[in-house]
Amino acid sequence: MEILRMIVLLSLFAMASPAGLRSQAHEISLTTPSRPQAAIPQPRLLLPARTFDGQAMHEGWAVLVEGNRITAAGPLAALSIPAGAEAIELPGHTLMPGLIEGHSHLLLYPYNRADWNDQVLKESNELRAIRGAVQAEENLMAGFTTVRELGTEGAGYADVAIKQAIEQGIIPGPRLIVSGRAIVATGSYGPKGFKPDFDVPLGAEPADGDALIRVVRGQIGKGADFIKVYADYRWGPDGEAQPTFLQEELELMVRTARSSGRGVAAHAATAEGMRRAALAGVETIEHGDGGTAEVFQLMKEKGVALCPTLAAGDAILRYRGWDGRPETEPERIKQKKKSFQLALESGVTILAGGDVGVFEHGENVRELELMVEYGMPPLEVLRAATAVNAEAFHLPELGRIREGFLADLIALEGNPADDISSLRKVRLVMKDGVLYRKP
Ligand SMILES: [Zn+2]
Repeated sequence: MEILRMIVLLSLFAMASPAGLRSQAHEISLTTPSRPQAAIPQPRLLLPARTFDGQAMHEGWAVLVEGNRITAAGPLAALSIPAGAEAIELPGHTLMPGLIEGHSHLLLYPYNRADWNDQVLKESNELRAIRGAVQAEENLMAGFTTVRELGTEGAGYADVAIKQAIEQGIIPGPRLIVSGRAIVATGSYGPKGFKPDFDVPLGAEPADGDALIRVVRGQIGKGADFIKVYADYRWGPDGEAQPTFLQEELELMVRTARSSGRGVAAHAATAEGMRRAALAGVETIEHGDGGTAEVFQLMKEKGVALCPTLAAGDAILRYRGWDGRPETEPERIKQKKKSFQLALESGVTILAGGDVGVFEHGENVRELELMVEYGMPPLEVLRAATAVNAEAFHLPELGRIREGFLADLIALEGNPADDISSLRKVRLVMKDGVLYRKP
């Protein structure tokens, strides 16, 4: 492990150069700046039992990697192999694109270890950032080579710092797409319950009305790749979820973000919050627990994707004592299964993102297992965690195994189309052509 880490760090050091310039277009450029010629490793030929290319499973394919790119993929006999290519035999393994975590909080860790309020109020941003850096590596080693970060929950712009540390080769970690602090309506978000005289640090940045323009731009200036907003939250008269921002406020944030080439992701658990967010033009709706057939239809029409975060609700109910047995299934899980079924039937784009951080980093596969358990065919789940997420997050060179795409690849024992849990047996992890884990 230590030796592997040293090799990884050395090879990263060799290619260290200023952080990749972000492209002007909406598509996020994650290409690592070109490495000096001498540092390019010899071509590598990966020989798995089967290959999932982001769309379908293929038996007997081989995949050629040169530098940080996939330069050929297909039946072995059809490939022309350059002299001196190193063969990596992967018998019994499935090769597939690096997984993309659609909803993560690197600055959080499971609430059964420390309550969310305590993490936000009692821990320094420095402590949280260091833990976040370690957790970033856990995501990578679990096969998640790209992670979309949905807010630091009170830890400022620690996500931007972790992203920079990874890009500069200081620490190993996935490609990160970050949102910074996230935006909430004044009065809606926590931590709450203190004497009104206290100005308590919040889990996100509050703003309203015209000030939202300045806050969106401020977050962009500090490094946000996209904007995360809370379209509803548990602030109703009885503590129930209710919409937060007015329609025009959501539209203002979307217009401001979009004019900079960035999209907006909206937390929404109520049908009305989801409806407003979809009408405003957000790109993704997170959670969507209260989604109705009408709302999912509207999302489909507007091209808004759903990130269902099944694993978060599951984890929270277990922390509250649910033993996980179907006979004792809480109402909230039953309701979530129903709305997920409605989403599947509607044909809305479904992303793979678990709200990891609420549960253990490195256990990201939990979401994919639950997607299958809640009724999504395994092959569809594999597509969601690769090609579908890549498209939704504007990553045109990721999520597929195809000539010219970036060499973010994983290999795992078994066939995840038969048993989704074989994704827990990741044995090879390659990001940008660099091997972080080898069988
Ligand atoms: Zn979240």
